[in-house]
Amino acid sequence: MRDGGLFAGWEAAIHAGELRFPRCRQCGSWNWYPLPRCRNCGSSVQEWTKVSPQGTLYSWTRVHRLFAREAVTDVPYVTGLVDVVAGVRLVCLQRPGSGGEVRIGMPVQLSLDRIGDTAHWIFDVPER
Ligand SMILES: [Zn+2]
Repeated sequence: MRDGGLFAGWEAAIHAGELRFPRCRQCGSWNWYPLPRCRNCGSSVQEWTKVSPQGTLYSWTRVHRLFAREAVTDVPYVTGLVDVVAGVRLVCLQRPGSGGEVRIGMPVQLSLDRIGDTAHWIFDVPER
């Protein structure tokens, strides 16, 4: 892992508009969230590797009350866990205003968008 903190590669990926996760060069395991050493083999040699911005919705919930004063988006909103590759489950928001029905196990397409001052990975649900 390069210097600059465990999330430096994440920030670089966001800047590049790409979805990347740390992958062990020793055993090939994905390690998310980033750790100094591979969860599987203990190697410290990991590389931020680009993946396709799509996945499967593992779980989701509709949030009706804000948790913090600084709102990510208007309530209600849907947040979900998306399985991107083996071992990588990413927290995402459903695109605000998209009206498709959300189902566990559905394929979703991810895109990087800014909400307020922060970049978020957003998932879209196909309209029926
Ligand atoms: Zn490993």
